[in-house]
Amino acid sequence: MKIGIVGAGMVGSSAAYAMTLLGVGTQIVLVDRNEALARAQAGDIAHAAPFGAPVQVKAGGYDALEGAGVVILAAGVGQKPGESRIALLERNAAVFQTIIAEVTAHAPDAILLIATNPVDVMTYVAQKLSKMPASRVIGSGTILDTARFRAELGSHLGIAPQSVHAYILGEHGDSEIAVWSSATVGSTPVAEFARQIGRPLDAAARTALAIRVRDAAYEIIEGKGATYHGIGAGVARIVQAIIDDERVILSVSTVTPVVEGVQNVPVSLPRIVGREGVIADLMPHLDADEHAGLEASAKVIASLTEALKLPD
Ligand code: NAD
Repeated sequence: MKIGIVGAGMVGSSAAYAMTLLGVGTQIVLVDRNEALARAQAGDIAHAAPFGAPVQVKAGGYDALEGAGVVILAAGVGQKPGESRIALLERNAAVFQTIIAEVTAHAPDAILLIATNPVDVMTYVAQKLSKMPASRVIGSGTILDTARFRAELGSHLGIAPQSVHAYILGEHGDSEIAVWSSATVGSTPVAEFARQIGRPLDAAARTALAIRVRDAAYEIIEGKGATYHGIGAGVARIVQAIIDDERVILSVSTVTPVVEGVQNVPVSLPRIVGREGVIADLMPHLDADEHAGLEASAKVIASLTEALKLPD
C-alpha cells in the first residue's frame, strides 16, 4: 500500500525511516513545500531500504499521493518568539487549509493521520476541513506519551515495556493523565507487581514518574532541539495497524461526541484501530481523580478548538 507523508521535516522523515526499516507499506511518498528537502530525505531513506524492507521511497507533488491508503500530516510552522499558542494554532490551521484541500483532492480514500502539534487541536482542524468521518481522521495523540509511560515503568520495574499495559490519556500536552488504577504488568495490577518484586510504586514514585513522562519532550528539546524518533515510530505503528487491519488498541485522538461531559472533543482514549481507522472507543476503568483529570484535559483541548472558531 502507498503511504503519503506531507511534511518531510524531522517528524515526517523519521516516520518514513521507521516504516522503511519495519516494512510498513510498499511505497512511501514524501511531499513538502521545500521540494529539495523532500527529495533529499527520500533519497537518504531509500538507501536504508536494502537493510530493512523492500519499500520504495520517493518525493513528489500532491498528485503523487494518488492511491494512498494513509496520508500522514507532519507539516507545520514553528512558534515565533513571543507568539501566543492560539496565534501559532491559527497559522498552522491556515497551513492545513491548503494541505487538506490538496490531499483530499488527490487521495480522497486515504485515512488522515495527524502528527502536527498541537496534535489534538490539529486533528479537530483536519476533520472539520476535510469533512471526513471522525473515525478516519486520527491524531497520534498520546501514543508517544503512552510509549514513554511504558518505557519508564518498564525501566523502574526491570521488565520489558511490551509487558506493561498502561495508558496516558487526554491531551498530548501538559494536562495529560497517567492512568494508574487499571495499569497492569502482564495480568498483575502494576502496584501489586511492584510490591512483589520489591520495587514499590508509592504515591511519590508515581508522581515523579508521571512528571518525567509529561516533561520528557522538554528535556529532549533542550538537548537536541526537537523530538522525532519516538513519534516517528509511533506514527509507523499506527499506519501498520491500519493497513494490516490489526484491530489493535492504541491511545490515539479523534473527535469524539462526548468525553467526560465535554462535547466534540479530540482527546486520546484507548481505541481499536484497523483498516477503517478508529473502529471503537474504549473507556478504561478510572478512579475519581483520573475521571476529574480526563475531564480537565478535555476542557483544555475544547477551549482551544472553540477559540479557533472554525465554521461547521
Ligand atoms: P520540521 O520543521 O522539521 O518539519 C516541518 C516541515 O513542514 C518542513 O519541512 C516544512 O517545509 C513543511 N511545511 C511547512 N508548511 C508546509 C506546507 N504548507 N506544505 C508542505 N509542507 C510544509 O518540524 P518537525 O520537527 O518535523 O515537526 C513537525 C510537526 O510535528 C510540528 O508541529 C511538531 O510540533 C510536531 N511534533 C508532534 C509530535 C507528536 O507527538 N504528535 C512529536 C514531535 C513533534
